[in-house]
Amino acid sequence: MLISFNPADIERAAALINNTRKVVILTHMSPDGDAMGSSLAMRLYLLKKGKEATVIVPNPFPSFLAWMPTASEDIVFEKEPEQAKQALTNADLIICTDFNEPKRIGAVGELMLQQTCQKILIDHHIAPAPFADLTFSFPQSPSASEIVYHLIVALNDDNYRMPLDIATCLYTGMMTDTGNFSFNSNFPDMYEVVAQLVRLGVNKDLIYQKVFNAYTADRMRLMGYCLYHKMQIFPEHHAAFISLNRKELYRFNFQAGDAEGLVNLPLQISGIDYSCFMREDKVNPAEVMLANGSKTKIKISMRSKGDHAVNTFCRDIFSGGGHKNAAGGEYYGPLKNAEQLFLQHYPQYFHKD
Ligand code: 5GP
Ligand code: MN
Repeated sequence: MLISFNPADIERAAALINNTRKVVILTHMSPDGDAMGSSLAMRLYLLKKGKEATVIVPNPFPSFLAWMPTASEDIVFEKEPEQAKQALTNADLIICTDFNEPKRIGAVGELMLQQTCQKILIDHHIAPAPFADLTFSFPQSPSASEIVYHLIVALNDDNYRMPLDIATCLYTGMMTDTGNFSFNSNFPDMYEVVAQLVRLGVNKDLIYQKVFNAYTADRMRLMGYCLYHKMQIFPEHHAAFISLNRKELYRFNFQAGDAEGLVNLPLQISGIDYSCFMREDKVNPAEVMLANGSKTKIKISMRSKGDHAVNTFCRDIFSGGGHKNAAGGEYYGPLKNAEQLFLQHYPQYFHKD
């Protein structure tokens, strides 16, 4: 997919950035590599332009992304709500990356909407909500980081050489949102960007090691437990299902990010086209408004192969969404009820033979 911008939008973005002093960058709840990559790259770009730039994440990012350039400077709303509020109140520009509706950033979304400053959205999810003054939306793009790459290039002249820290963030986002280029990755243009990032000095092999070979022993054991004890297979509809309650997570000393990748595992089985993973979570302070009194939140992750989509299922059953092969949603209430919803509805959505 070729990402091409409307020249007027680039001019507007350039003017907004040039006329601003304090920028806040927001990205989605449970930040993944693309959320971190796209937001940190924007921050680093703005810092180098002499702006004051702050990234606010709704809740903590996983430890395997902590090495990313300046990640430790992110404000985590859940831990430092006052600092986050202050940064937002003082901002004269807000840039949102890698999410399509304010709900995806919980309570930070409410605060963002209260601010009267201009807002730019850079995203690759379908049908972005019209909350920003300027939206760069490319739902066909495999990552928000790739859009940020093109945007930074478009904002500069031909002599621009992207600094290595920015390139590293963007590569990380492109790599993680495509499962190390194993899904949603049949785009020749994407590899042109990868080639350019490697030319700029990105050490792709090292980034892979840091992100994908960074498990704790507890996480490996949790994975074994999921596959041995918890995975259910529904062969007729080519589906696999895993769920974990809080007690199970506690047993394996669960940390943010430990569930990352578990949903992908059943797709390694021949004949399995759909995988669903659920885990019971506490409702965090950033999202009490959405919880309707429930103390538990169930996080649903789904993955699929090829033409078999999971985003419509997530949208219809768990008021979520996402991409054809990687989607998710949330359910506020007991895990049992969320499991029931999955079991009740999957046969209508998943193909049979
Ligand atoms: P993950 O399973 O990695 O949490 O999410 C995969 C993709 O599904 C995300 O990139 C995002 O597009 C989408 N997604 C996950 N959770 C939600 C959700 O609660 N609501 C919406 N709209 N999309 C979600
Ligand atoms: Mn993304």
